[in-house]
Amino acid sequence: MSKETYHYLFGPVPSRRLGRSLGVDIVPFKTCTQNCIYCQLGKDTPQAIERKEYVPIDAVLDELKRKIAEGLETDVITISGSGEPTLNSGLGKLLDSIKQLTDVPVVVITNGTLLSRDDVRADCAKADIVMPSLDAGDPQTFETMNHPHPDIDYDTYVEGLCRFRQEFKGSYWLEVFFCEGVNTDPESIRKIKEQILRIRPDKVQLNTSVRPITHPDAARVSPEKLNQIAQQWGNSTEVIADFSKHIETGAFTSGQAEILDMLRRRPCSADDICDGLGLNRNIAQKLIQQLLNTAKIVAEEKKQTIYYKIR
Ligand code: SF4
Repeated sequence: MSKETYHYLFGPVPSRRLGRSLGVDIVPFKTCTQNCIYCQLGKDTPQAIERKEYVPIDAVLDELKRKIAEGLETDVITISGSGEPTLNSGLGKLLDSIKQLTDVPVVVITNGTLLSRDDVRADCAKADIVMPSLDAGDPQTFETMNHPHPDIDYDTYVEGLCRFRQEFKGSYWLEVFFCEGVNTDPESIRKIKEQILRIRPDKVQLNTSVRPITHPDAARVSPEKLNQIAQQWGNSTEVIADFSKHIETGAFTSGQAEILDMLRRRPCSADDICDGLGLNRNIAQKLIQQLLNTAKIVAEEKKQTIYYKIR
């Protein structure tokens, strides 16, 4: 009998920063206010800015109740996934309801661009840990690095990060993602640090992509350089570069291995993969795309269905 599929949950999976993490995905694949040059979810996708219930929160909660009834063992519940979770207008309701269901701490991973909005800050304040991002110390680098929606203004965004710090009582961890040649010259590093001093997060976490980046301008930064920046910035800064942005979870590598195992036995469609591994559809799509990008699998159409097989 095949496992009942989860559409919005994935894991729990090991995460270096958070322990075992149950992922909750509340926006459709690559629904985001930005289009970062290092994004692993695809490039040249249009940015979203409207807050709405992109996926029904009641359906997410039904899955969560089912997961808890099955005996959930996790250190945290992480709202993140395949885009920008604060775009979902039901985020506050979701966080309130999770708090009624369980004592497990809840984390929101966000790019932080909507924290200038009162409603988004009020929603995020219900979490235990909030992990926003800041990759640029000035508007030009922000534009180059993150390609934000045209309605997002750099100063307003940083102001939002500062205001949230003043209001939020939980843990506030800021992630800075570096791409060599884009935000790694001494002046860019100095400007980012200047903004961090204004924002005053509890921790600063430095990241770079450990996987191939498709964008020609986004080269990864060496571990030596990240360590150097961490030392320069002081005690509350750490390097977390084993994990790439918003693909926080070892899940994606272990998920890839499981898919490859399955495909070694026979070619499968995306539906077969979701059903066979009990995977969230967005995550399965993401994993399949990564395996295609790295040429580990190939796609073949048969009777109007796409099948994937080992290359
Ligand atoms: S890396 Fe994150 S914030 Fe940037 S475009 Fe991708 S999903 Fe959005």
